[in-house]
Amino acid sequence: MMLRPVPLSLLLVLLPACGGEHQVRPNVLVISIDMLRADHVSSYGYERTTTPTIDGLADDGVRFARHVSSAPWTLPAHAAMFTSLPDSVHGCVDGTSNALPDGITTLAERYSQAGYGTSGFFAGPYLHPAFGLGQGFDEYRFCVPDLAARLDGQSVDQWAGDPAAHRRSHHGVTNPGVVNAASAWLREHREDPFFMFVHLWDAHFDFVPPAPFDARFGDPSYDGFVDGREFFFDQRIHGGMDDRDLRQLIALYDGEIMWCDVHVKLLLGLLDELQLADDTIVVVTSDHGTEFFDHGSKGHRRTLYGEAINIPLVIRAPGRLPRGMVVDDLTRMVDLGPTLMELSGLAPSNEFVGQSLAPLARGEDVPPRIALSELLADQNRMRSVISGQGKLVWNEVTGDAVWFNLASDPKELKPQRDLTQGLGLELLRALQAEMETIERVAEQHQYPWQPIVLPPALDSAIRASGYGGGDK
Ligand SMILES: [Zn+2]
Repeated sequence: MMLRPVPLSLLLVLLPACGGEHQVRPNVLVISIDMLRADHVSSYGYERTTTPTIDGLADDGVRFARHVSSAPWTLPAHAAMFTSLPDSVHGCVDGTSNALPDGITTLAERYSQAGYGTSGFFAGPYLHPAFGLGQGFDEYRFCVPDLAARLDGQSVDQWAGDPAAHRRSHHGVTNPGVVNAASAWLREHREDPFFMFVHLWDAHFDFVPPAPFDARFGDPSYDGFVDGREFFFDQRIHGGMDDRDLRQLIALYDGEIMWCDVHVKLLLGLLDELQLADDTIVVVTSDHGTEFFDHGSKGHRRTLYGEAINIPLVIRAPGRLPRGMVVDDLTRMVDLGPTLMELSGLAPSNEFVGQSLAPLARGEDVPPRIALSELLADQNRMRSVISGQGKLVWNEVTGDAVWFNLASDPKELKPQRDLTQGLGLELLRALQAEMETIERVAEQHQYPWQPIVLPPALDSAIRASGYGGGDK
C-alpha cells in the first residue's frame, strides 16, 4: 500500500474546509452491487419492482441514466472505479499476470491522505488485495469467513484441491456478512470522516436468493430444473433453452437484485440511525452486467454489448447535488472518482482521466463524453466506444469492427460495417481519439506493472467459479 506525504497543493485545498466552522467534510459510502445490469433496475425502466431503495435514493439525489463501465467483468471495472483510469492504463486487466501498481493513486489513498478513515468490505474473489485493490484502505476485509480463512493460509492445500468445495462456495449468501462487518466498522468510526466501500456479491451468479426473494418474481407453478445454481456450468442452461426455464432463471436473478436492495436499505437505515445521512455522500453503482442470451451467450467477460457494460449510477449528496435529477448524458466509470473529489472539496488527482459529473448533475452544459470500454482478458482484445447515439465495437483479434445506431437499435441487434461515412466514420474518429488519450496517459505515467501473487486457493476458487479462462 502507498503512503505518501500530503502534497502542499492538497493542504491548501483542505485548509479552508478544516478552518471553516460550518463546513463539514462529507463522509462517502460507495456501494457496488456486482453484476447489476442497468436495465434490471426499476428506475432505469425495468418492468419489475426490483430496487425500491435505490429508486428512493435516486429521488433524493441524481440518477445517471446512461452510465457505462470500463469493462465487462469485476477486476478491471473495480480498478477503473478506484483509479479513474482506463483499463489500458491501470493495467489490471486480466487477473492472471498483473496487479494494480502501487504507484497508482486510488480513491481510498486520496481520502486517507485527506485524513479520512477508510474501509472496504467485499465478498467476491476478484476484490482480493492480491490484485492491488486494497491500496489506501485502513481496513480491507474479505467478508466470506470460510473462504477468507482458507485464503489466509489455513488448509490451503487441502481446500485448493477440491473443485466441488469451490463451486459450493459460489452458492453462498454473502450480503449479510458484508453489511454486518461494514455496519460494525461504521459504528466504531462514526466520529471521523470516512470513505467506505461496500461490495455486494449476491446478485452475481449463482442465483440463490433467500426466501422470500427466491419466489418474489417467479412463476409459482414452475416445476422445471432451474433452481439458480450452476448457472455457468449447467449445460442445460443454453441459448436454446425453454422459455419458461429462462424466465425462471431471470426471475431468480431479479430476486437477488431485490435481496441486494434490501441490504442497501440496511446501510441507509444505519446512516439515519447514526444521524450521518445529511453528511454522507452515498453512491450506488455496479461493476458490469451480464448476458442472458441477449446475443446468444451467458455470463460476461466475452463481449462488450450493452447488457454487459451498461450499469446504474445513483448519487445522493445532500446540500451538494440536487434532488430528483436525472442525467441523460453519457457518463463513464472513470468519472466517479473526480466526482467524489469535487463533492468532497478535495483537489482531483492529476492522474485521473475521468471528469467530475457534478456540473452535469447541476444541469450545466458540458461537452459530450466518449465512453470507452475494454476487454483485454483471456484471448480477447476488444474495445468499444459510445459517442452520441452510436457505438463502435472493435475486435482486435479478428479485425472485425461493427457499429450500432443506439437510437434506432438500442439492443444492438443490427450491426453496421460502413466506417467511411456518417455515424460509422464519426465513431471511428472517436475510437482513434480515445486510443490517443490512452497512449498519452500511459506514456505520461509509465506505471510499472507488478506481478500478481495469488494465494493458491484464490486461484482455484476463481477458476471453479467460472472465471479465469475462455470457457464462459
Ligand atoms: Zn463483477
